[in-house]
Order: sequence, then structure tokens, then C-alpha cells
Amino acid sequence: MQNQLKQDSQAFDFDLLVIGGGSGGVRAARLAAGHGASVAVVEQGAMGGTCVNVGCIPKKLYSYAASYAHAFAEASGFGWALSSDQHLDWPTLKDRRAAEIARLNGVYEQMLTSSGVQILHGRARLADAHTVVIGDQSVTAAHVLVATGASATLPDIPGRELVLTSDAMFDLPQVPRRLLVVGGGYIACEFASIFRTLGAEVVLVHRGTGLLSGFDDDVREFLQAELAADGVEIRFDATVQQVQSDAGRRIVALSNGQAIVTDAVFFATGRRPNTFGLGLEEVGVDLTPDGAIAVDACFQTSVPSVHAVGDVIDRVQLTPVALREATVLIDRLFGSDTLCMDYAAIPTAVFTHPNIATAGLSETQARARFERVAIYRSTFRALKHTLSGRATRTLMKLIVDADTDRVVGIHMVGEDAGEVVQGFAVAMRAGATKAQFDSTVGIHPTAAEEFVTMKTAIAEPA
Ligand SMILES: Cc1cc2nc3c(=O)[nH]c(=O)nc-3n(C[C@H](O)[C@H](O)[C@H](O)COP(=O)(O)OP(=O)(O)OC[C@H]3O[C@@H](n4cnc5c(N)ncnc54)[C@H](O)[C@@H]3O)c2cc1C
Repeated sequence: MQNQLKQDSQAFDFDLLVIGGGSGGVRAARLAAGHGASVAVVEQGAMGGTCVNVGCIPKKLYSYAASYAHAFAEASGFGWALSSDQHLDWPTLKDRRAAEIARLNGVYEQMLTSSGVQILHGRARLADAHTVVIGDQSVTAAHVLVATGASATLPDIPGRELVLTSDAMFDLPQVPRRLLVVGGGYIACEFASIFRTLGAEVVLVHRGTGLLSGFDDDVREFLQAELAADGVEIRFDATVQQVQSDAGRRIVALSNGQAIVTDAVFFATGRRPNTFGLGLEEVGVDLTPDGAIAVDACFQTSVPSVHAVGDVIDRVQLTPVALREATVLIDRLFGSDTLCMDYAAIPTAVFTHPNIATAGLSETQARARFERVAIYRSTFRALKHTLSGRATRTLMKLIVDADTDRVVGIHMVGEDAGEVVQGFAVAMRAGATKAQFDSTVGIHPTAAEEFVTMKTAIAEPA
């Protein structure tokens, strides 16, 4: 089938037509062009997709902005005498973020065009297995890649038009004095933490009994305590039933009978794959029961010439996953067909204050998989905070399969956790044992050295 498609490509306008100029789509287009394929990308909005425009990048920039609040508070402990009127000029932050994102949009466009990729602007829809319609233009391709991402969902409650999703949070007219965050996932936690640190009074409401489901329980509890200590008020076991507007304020009725008066309501309760209006079902592309595009291990849909990667297939909604899926797909279509996708031990970070980073298994997952598990856990006050005066602490945790001595889980809550865990994730993927961690000389004085100096298991194998 593959060779057949490759031969047939002469008959089409392009070898590959990508719908969606986000993380997955742009990576796929550039790589395919690098293999000599003729490629076009259709994008309905700004180039770069969710990550660049309303996701990872602006969020991390705002997280950096928030971190200055802590830095100013800590500075006096190191002898700095700062004036007492430090304040955030929110319009300046927004303008500078917007300018940087516009620069990145241009960089993405430039990267594509200089690779020989044609950019088509507009909303695309499949007309048949090889034809995509953009407005009144019809384009054919040997392969079509759907990389249309996902969008935030809102529950069907009275007043849903009064609530915000993450797309709107970056351009709020001002930092709200009071903010209600709804959700318990990483996006909810990040925005709660960022806006709290920027000065808002934040209440977080979650229907569950703990934040960050799926993360290691120690990490979840530790972060919850840190957020609470920072002043985020957390209310579990509650959902929002109704939102009303009253003289610019929002009155929010919860399922437990409580009412919250706030200035803005932000929902981060889920993201749905963007499959609507693409003509997928009409062309015979199967969807999963959750509405994602169903693909096989090689990212092929039920229509052999149509492929899908990234958030629209709803496996792991992270940028590096979309990038890797695109890399594997293009290697199969135009390259050596030797790469494969491995979803095990994907490292990830949560940019709360403090950050979380994690790779591999949680303790619960490890205990379900291995007979004997050893846990190494350390909490401490980082050196910086001995002078800063802040009470924030760091958590580091290693999970080891006691029979093989292999490290199968690495978790950290603390400053720059993502930077630390990314490196250790390579060692873990390479099969490093706890003995090899122990034999590695630490870098002193760092928090990271704790990962190579934790000597005593806290929970010996049963
Ligand atoms: C608030 C937030 C924070 C995040 N933070 C992180 C993070 O810190 N780290 C991380 O790894 N991930 C993060 N993510 C997730 C990450 O942004 C996504 O996993 C990633 O962008 C998925 O890439 P994609 O290519 O699948 O889709 P996208 O990047 O969403 O790109 C899809 C593109 O397709 C376009 N499109 C859709 N339909 C059509 C159509 N019919 N015609 C033409 N164009 C179309 C869209 O306009 C969009 O540009 C975050 C997401 C959000 C919302």
C-alpha cells in the first residue's frame, strides 16, 4: 500500500498536505520537505498552534513573570533593599508576550517556506481520501495528515457564556482581584498558581478529592500543601452548577450549596479533539468513542491515505509527544521506516510555583507492576531559602524495581524541576540502576544532587 501511494503521488498536487500548523503539523511538514516531498500546510489561524499561541509558551512566560513576585519577596534576605512599590504592569506583560508570540509566528512561517513548504491560509475540510477543500480551493495530495489539535470544553451549565477558558486568560483586561479556577489537572493548577503569585485571590474548585490525578500521590499532596501555603484556597468534591453576573462580579453556585463571589471564572476541565466539521466521517475516517481520530500504531486512520497525530488523536496531549508522533509518521511515509513511538516514561512538567517534574511510574503504578518496589524520598529546604526566608520546600522521590535495581520513576517538586528531571529521564530510559545513580558524583551545591545521594529506602520491599 505504501509503495502504491508513493507511486501515485505524481498524480496529486502534493505528496503531503497537512491540516493544522501546530506542533505536530509543522514538524511533519518540515521533515517531509526535508525528504524531498512536496508539502503544503493549511492553517486557519496563527502559525504554531496551541503551544505557541495560547499554551506552553505564553503560559511559561507568565510563570516567569509570576516568579519575580517571589524573587522580590526573597531579595531582602540576601541584603537587597528594594523600593516598596514593586508592581506588575499587566499591559506591558501582555504587549511583550504578544510581540514575542508574533515573532515566533513569523519564525514558524519562515521555517516552513524556507524548507519549500507551501502555506495555505483558511479552514480545511476533507472532500475525499485525497482531496482537501479550503474555501473555494480544492487541493489533492497522496497523503493527508490531520493535525488539528484540541479545544477546551465547557460544561452545559447556566451562565457558561460568562466563564473563561485558557485561550482568554492571557489577554484579560487586568489581573482579576478574585479568580475562581475550576479543575484539578495541570492547566488548572498552573493558572491557579500563576495568578495567585501575580496577586489574585484564587479559589480552586475541583470535583475530585485531590489535584493532578495520575501523578505520584506524594507529589500531589506536596503540591497541594504548597499551593495552600501560597494562599490558593482549594475546595474539593464540588462542581459548578451555575454562574451569574452581578454588577461585573460573578456569583457561582456550587453543587455543595456554597456560593462564591468572584471577578472571573476560569474552567480547565478538559480538552476535546478538533474533529468537528472536517468531513472525517463522510470520508470514512473512524473516530474513537471519545471523538478522537482513531489511528493504528503507525498513525494511519481507517482511510489509508489519511493520517493523524497530536492532540486530535488524544493519546498524550503534550507538544513533545505531537512532535515525536509526527517524526515517526514522516519516517514511515518518506524515510527509512525504522522509528517507532514509545509512550512509556514520557517526562512531563507542571509549571506551578514550585514546579513539578516527573518521569516514569508513580509509586502506585510501580507497586501494581513490580513485585518488590523500593522508595527513596527526600524533602528539604533548598539552600536558597535558608536566607530567602520563604518556607517553601523541595520534594524528590525515586522509585526502584527492587528485583532489577532499575529506577522506574523520578519525581520532583521544587525550583526548576523540569530542568533537573529532563536529564535524569535520559538515564532512566537508558535503564540506569539505583546503584548507578549512587555511583554518580553529585554537583554541589544543587538540589539535583539529592537524586544521587538518597541512600536509604523509606519503604523496603514487603
Ligand atoms: C494552556 C495550555 C498549556 C499547555 N502547556 C503545555 C506545556 O507546558 N507543555 C506541553 O508539552 N504541552 C502543553 N500544552 C499542550 C500542547 O499545547 C499541545 O499538546 C500541542 O499544541 C498539540 O499540538 P498539535 O499539533 O496536536 O495541535 P495544535 O498545536 O493545537 O495545532 C492545531 C492547529 O490546527 C489548526 N486547525 C484546526 N482545525 C483546522 C482546520 N479545519 N483547518 C485548518 N487549520 C485547522 C489550529 O488553528 C491549530 O493551529 C498546553 C496546552 C494548553 C491549552
